[in-house]
Amino acid sequence: MTATLDTVRLDLGPRSYDILVGDGVLSDAGERIAAVTRGRAPIVVTDANVGPLHLDSLNAAMVEAGIAPSPAITLPAGEKTKDFGHFQSLMNEILGRGIERSTVLLALGGGVIGDITGFAAASALRGIDFIQVPTTLLSQVDSSVGGKTGINSPHGKNLIGAFHQPRLVIADTATLDTLPRREVLAGYAEVAKYGLIRLPDFFAWLEENGRRVVDGDSAARRHAVTVSCRAKADIVGVDERESGDRALLNLGHTFGHALEAATGFGQTLLHGEGVAIGMVMAFDLSVRLGLCPAEDARRARAHLAGVGLPVRAADVAGVTWDVDGLVRSMAKDKKVQDGRITFILANGIGKAFTRRDVDAASVRAVLEESVS
Ligand code: NAD
Ligand code: MG
Repeated sequence: MTATLDTVRLDLGPRSYDILVGDGVLSDAGERIAAVTRGRAPIVVTDANVGPLHLDSLNAAMVEAGIAPSPAITLPAGEKTKDFGHFQSLMNEILGRGIERSTVLLALGGGVIGDITGFAAASALRGIDFIQVPTTLLSQVDSSVGGKTGINSPHGKNLIGAFHQPRLVIADTATLDTLPRREVLAGYAEVAKYGLIRLPDFFAWLEENGRRVVDGDSAARRHAVTVSCRAKADIVGVDERESGDRALLNLGHTFGHALEAATGFGQTLLHGEGVAIGMVMAFDLSVRLGLCPAEDARRARAHLAGVGLPVRAADVAGVTWDVDGLVRSMAKDKKVQDGRITFILANGIGKAFTRRDVDAASVRAVLEESVS
């Protein structure tokens, strides 16, 4: 069977690549993988949840294209894997296989596996090729596209890394059928983000069809992933290293990051859940500053809540928030420049922009409202 396939191209001159999106595309992707690896086996890196579920179909696709798969490297699942210790053992395992400049890595998993594998590819022999096979909604619409790779340090998340673009991305929406619903919803926050940033028609489509995306309708999922990848590819294509428009992708992330930091970047609040709450705060802040109609903020909140995402910090069970701590944490964000926080605000649905001179009292008021 040949799966219905959308191809999104990320144009970056010699570093351009295709993102293949569709239900079942992995099964048909052997030839595309072989074209990158020149018919040889890539070194597959996966995690302990994803390997048992999806490694067989990847290997079957490669066998069909004449590739004899080599044993995969399986890392523990979860954010804790993105650390120095696991990076060291991953690098030693890769180098122990006697690699050459032409060796290709393949990341099969969510953003954790994509980020650490991409960074390994950027580092091994000063840079070898890699392929992304993202298996979470978040990684399909966000982390697998754009070339940010890296690991965490005790000083903060994603502080060690490199820009290193993949050679190919294979986003098979069928792999999402095994993803826990809470993870699907967390990824959905990033889907909605593209609508809120610059695609008002897509946001209106999501208001009609978002539930189908979350519930697993394959045509709706393909459309949502394709539009999201197109949106990210368009932005990265003009601003690969985040000196301008790429910052818009941080809508909701400065607030969300502070909430995640306060809850230890764990299961209490998933990244996408923090982003959902943070996007609502960004719209509320925009309204408070007189920049955005209240009706648009209401729509953003109603849609995210409607699919089942948290929209207020107070929605997060079992946490007592410390607003002063959140304010301090925001001031330490990676996006701070010359001591000023860059906020992503909006003039309405699909009309996001960056702003650096936001008064502290308004920010605090929005936080107070969200936690109470
Ligand atoms: P993840 O990789 O931890 O995956 C979430 C959970 O789902 C894990 O337990 C994983 O084992 C499991 N899983 C993955 N695919 C599955 C499947 N198909 N079926 C069942 N279970 C599955 O987390 P994530 O949300 O995919 O990614 C988060 C990471 O991505 C963070 O480290 C974040 O910093 C990073 N990120 C990077 C970028 C970037 O541009 N590089 C952008 C956004 C996020
Ligand atoms: Mg994000």
